[in-house]
Amino acid sequence: MEYKKMLEGLYASLPERSKKHERFEMPEVDSFVHGTKTIVKNFSAILKVINRDKKHLFKFLAKETATSTAIDDSGRLVLSGRFSREQVNRLIKSYITQFILCPECKRPDTKVTEKQGVRMLKCDACGALSSVRGL
Ligand SMILES: [Zn+2]
Repeated sequence: MEYKKMLEGLYASLPERSKKHERFEMPEVDSFVHGTKTIVKNFSAILKVINRDKKHLFKFLAKETATSTAIDDSGRLVLSGRFSREQVNRLIKSYITQFILCPECKRPDTKVTEKQGVRMLKCDACGALSSVRGL
């Protein structure tokens, strides 16, 4: 049963070229379940692309999975709990949609700024200022 699940995860993570954004390429999550934990092998590559404070992403993942997150000695992300690759992929993608991509031009050249105590997403590409929801 576990093997079947693994295969499903594998197929789900196959790249779909048509869906990929021209400019922004998110590495597909490479994860596996080990005992009661889920290990994301290429987490450092993902962090590099996201280019944000990793603590924020940790917080997001911990909240979304309702578990704890940690980094092991090899820089891999360790989630307490069993999650399919597809699930982890979906989480990272939703993080990117929520906190990285500009809602106006869909580019990742953004940063989070604070304006009168409200967190806003500022886009360096088109100048759009949008509100950040959650966290
Ligand atoms: Zn923009």
